[in-house]
Amino acid sequence: MVKISFLGSCREIGRSGILVESKSGSKCILDYGIGFNNNNRLPLETDLTNLKAVALTHCHIDHSGALPFIYKKYQVPCFTNPISLDITEILIRDMIKISNYPYPFGFRELDLLKQNTSFLEKGTRYMIDDKYFITFIDAGHIPGSVSILLEVDDKRIFYSGDINTQETHLIDPANYKDVPQIDTLIVESTYALKEHPPRKSLEEKFVEKVIEITENGGKVLIPAFGVARSQEALLILEKYNYMGNIFIDGLARKVSSIYLENPNFIKDINAFRKILKRSQFISKKKDRLHVKNSKGVIISPSGMLKGGAAINYIETILNDPGSAIYLVGYQVEGSPGRGLIDNGIFEFKETQKKNRMSVNLKIKAKCDYDYFDFSSHADSLHLYEYIENLEFRNNTHKDVFCVHGDNKSTTTLASELVKKDYNSVAPEIGEIYKI
Ligand SMILES: [Zn+2]
Ligand SMILES: [Zn+2]
Repeated sequence: MVKISFLGSCREIGRSGILVESKSGSKCILDYGIGFNNNNRLPLETDLTNLKAVALTHCHIDHSGALPFIYKKYQVPCFTNPISLDITEILIRDMIKISNYPYPFGFRELDLLKQNTSFLEKGTRYMIDDKYFITFIDAGHIPGSVSILLEVDDKRIFYSGDINTQETHLIDPANYKDVPQIDTLIVESTYALKEHPPRKSLEEKFVEKVIEITENGGKVLIPAFGVARSQEALLILEKYNYMGNIFIDGLARKVSSIYLENPNFIKDINAFRKILKRSQFISKKKDRLHVKNSKGVIISPSGMLKGGAAINYIETILNDPGSAIYLVGYQVEGSPGRGLIDNGIFEFKETQKKNRMSVNLKIKAKCDYDYFDFSSHADSLHLYEYIENLEFRNNTHKDVFCVHGDNKSTTTLASELVKKDYNSVAPEIGEIYKI
């Protein structure tokens, strides 16, 4: 019997963590992220005796953020790739530095994580223990993202991680043909209930609006997530020949540099180099002042306007009827970005631990604002299509666990799959399944 324990990301997005144990008791952890709920930010603690390895699907902190906690007690290899490691390190470092939450680990454990990292190329089957193999397969979500195939005893378990089956400008999509026959699927459910708008017309509308605003002397603030979404926005501007100024600030700047250093993980590195050459990296106060007096596009996280470098520009833009704020990622309920889209009011409060400053803003937008859903997750249509294309070794017993989605998304996906003859559930945190 192989045991799968769900330590997090159960009926929620956040603190991904799956423990897979072989018949002989050897263990491997798939992802170990942090949650966004203030009380429970770490995956459920459990006995990790005989832990052989940890494997990371990608750098987003809901998958990687709690990894240092493991290295408080265990010195096991963490399998990932160079681009995911570099960005994971930046994200965790930032998280420890600026968060008011008392994480039970610090820079020392982050260094131990780095020291124990092993790079695994996609498609390479690696033995972590007797009858225990791990293989990375492209997930199409962000540069460096992978799905994970575990072969444990006589079982094949496939964990999708965050997955996208549609073409983006940054990377190639996930392809079900890369996955061999499996016994068990653990699949994300983020957009199990939602369809994305057609990408091409959305991109055209976005660039049209950006050009109109900037040609009339305005500024467009794109508060994109620093990892992948900012760079995808840049590549959209490049594709449609936007020729105005581009300013890149905050995390988007650091991550863009890492992408340049890891060209093998980017689909069209030349297009990316080209657009970055025409862009200006902004990090100093005096340069920000210059940007505020210029026209053009400002790409600056955070993606939901919860903080980050975007806050430096927000007052200027909100008060200018000739400028605009275009959000390009999902806006969670209660976030400042969501408030702006829904009510046209930007509300933001922050006490900065680092420089003991507090910011308190409530501004009614005079500028244009809009939301463009440039998602990097498969939507419901493509999620079902992907699952149904996967081949199971036993056609009469197809195990599917639905994780990484809210309560409704995970449970609906599971029950719809039951109707299609899958043996499917949305596990709850702490549940253990024997397969
Ligand atoms: Zn992700
Ligand atoms: Zn995720």
